[in-house]
Amino acid sequence: MSAVSHPAPRLAIVVPCYNEEEVFAYCQQELSALLYTMVQDQMIQPDSFLLFVDDGSRDTTWEQIKDACAENACVQGLKLSRNEGHQSALLAGLAAADPQADAIVSIDADLQDDINAIRRMVEAYRTGYEVVYGVRESRQTDTWFKRTSAEGFYKLMAVMGVRQVFNHADFRLLSRRALDNLLRYPERNAYIRGLVPLVGFASTEVHYARGVRTAGESKYPLRKMLALAMEGITSMTITPLRLIASLGFVICLFSLVAAFYVLVMKFTDNTVEGWPSIILSIFFMGGVQMLSLGIIGEYVGKIYLETKQRPRFHVESFLKHLTDTSSGL
Ligand code: UDP
Ligand code: MG
Repeated sequence: MSAVSHPAPRLAIVVPCYNEEEVFAYCQQELSALLYTMVQDQMIQPDSFLLFVDDGSRDTTWEQIKDACAENACVQGLKLSRNEGHQSALLAGLAAADPQADAIVSIDADLQDDINAIRRMVEAYRTGYEVVYGVRESRQTDTWFKRTSAEGFYKLMAVMGVRQVFNHADFRLLSRRALDNLLRYPERNAYIRGLVPLVGFASTEVHYARGVRTAGESKYPLRKMLALAMEGITSMTITPLRLIASLGFVICLFSLVAAFYVLVMKFTDNTVEGWPSIILSIFFMGGVQMLSLGIIGEYVGKIYLETKQRPRFHVESFLKHLTDTSSGL
């Protein structure tokens, strides 16, 4: 539940851009207009701003960002030295916006996500929420392939035990406090939409219909989507390692059942000499080896999780009587 309501925030909208020359002008125009009306409506502070991150584009994206910064006081630009990928570009932008803003929204440059949902996100923030997830109501405008593969991906992640909001990508609002806590995750291979739920704090969702890309092509071809899926699974969970152990256990059990069958065959004289012992040892040893691998995997997984050095907790409030000296705290 939401706790205390927040005053009108200084809002930052962070937009990662990779080869987005076709959509940049439109995106900047739309988002500036939105900021302007939200300032007029006194929903956000007048010094709210847009922060465009150029993720090593090879087209004129950066030149356009530079021009926009020169012309418009509410635009900031951050250029990465090379293409680092969407998640890293987004983190770079969030880290740069964090010290300057009270609430930070991230959105893709192609504006497939409905920018009017940002108003609702800020309203939710004002009522006290610290994390507001943008959730796609329908994906009718996505191709059949994109829709099925993306939804399949979310389901697979859920089976693997990764907690994330269904049909939510990286369109969200974070309070500065939630973002500060998110930035405490030092891992290199960050899967942001899996990390945000780990941060906690009062959260809610706003729903919207996802539109088509304004212009240009998707910068997420199948290759990058599969890479993101692999990244999501291997960076968030050690379930695949556990599956090896379970499979090994199942094969061991199966070899016991098979042993019964083989013995029956042997005593009914239906086998050739040597077959029972060979077939049983193949099954049994296969199972034992896989189970052992799984046990080793369990330790490897522990080492892996330790190396991430993730924060153990996120403090929401800390109550103490400053005048009370007997508490020991
Ligand atoms: N993007 C990025 N670096 C990359 C690939 C994509 O910063 O290497 C940005 C891109 O400019 C866009 C966002 O990530 O703002 C999402 O990309 P896109 O809209 O192409 O993905 P899709 O909606 O097709 O999944
Ligand atoms: Mg898109």
